[in-house]
Amino acid sequence: MSQKNVIEVSHLYKEYQTAAGPFPVLKDVNLRIAEGDYVAIMGPSGSGKSTFMNILGCLDKPTSGNYVLDGHAVATMEANAVAGVRNQTIGFVFQGFNLLARSSLLDNVGLPLVYSGVEKAERQARAKVLLEKVGLGKHIHSRPNQISGGQQQRVAIARALVNTPSLILADEPTGNLDSVTSEEIMALFGQLNKEGITIVLVTHENDIAEHAKRQVRFLDGEIVQDTVTDSRQVGEGASEQSE
Ligand code: ADP
Ligand code: MG
Repeated sequence: MSQKNVIEVSHLYKEYQTAAGPFPVLKDVNLRIAEGDYVAIMGPSGSGKSTFMNILGCLDKPTSGNYVLDGHAVATMEANAVAGVRNQTIGFVFQGFNLLARSSLLDNVGLPLVYSGVEKAERQARAKVLLEKVGLGKHIHSRPNQISGGQQQRVAIARALVNTPSLILADEPTGNLDSVTSEEIMALFGQLNKEGITIVLVTHENDIAEHAKRQVRFLDGEIVQDTVTDSRQVGEGASEQSE
């Protein structure tokens, strides 16, 4: 029962500075996500979901409040140290895939390893294994524009896995995909979660959110609902708590 929390967020506030003055976007957000959890972040456009994900992914800092990622108090840590924790812990998947158009799938997936100083042969070997895992073993030398949108998102997921993260953050990963393709991508996330990877993804579609074990709903920068729909999930901070 004593599951570790990968994410512990408390009293998180975020405001953006605008011409009209400070604009609050996250207001006292508290959330704990246990290792192995699978959370769908929901809520209307403008409710603060992407801002929250960017903070979880250490791409942005809160105005105030605490964020402990995998035991590290990243909100108060120095930038280089945060980058180290982030690269060891997190894989990102974006709505727009963000692939390099002129590079092969092999090079796209291996790209994060360039920054970790891994040699080319090793990068390609690891990228090939991951492309096979996501069902693209026959396309490793293709370029992104030679495959479908769903396949491109698989490439982005393979790339997110290349540093063997314990946590995957995905902001509207099916936002550009048709419903059949979305289901395939969600099946892949489900498989990764079964393998032990913690997953937090943003969606505004109920059918997509139902694939997760837990649904957290934002409204105007606050969490207004936190529901566990999978009874196998027994982690601390994952108890039923709807308001
Ligand atoms: P969501 O992902 O739920 O649509 P966002 O986190 O993108 O919400 O945005 C929340 C609010 O913050 C919106 O009102 C948006 O216009 C505003 N916002 C987002 N980014 C910035 C920024 N860099 N500067 C000022 N306002 C921003
Ligand atoms: Mg968004």
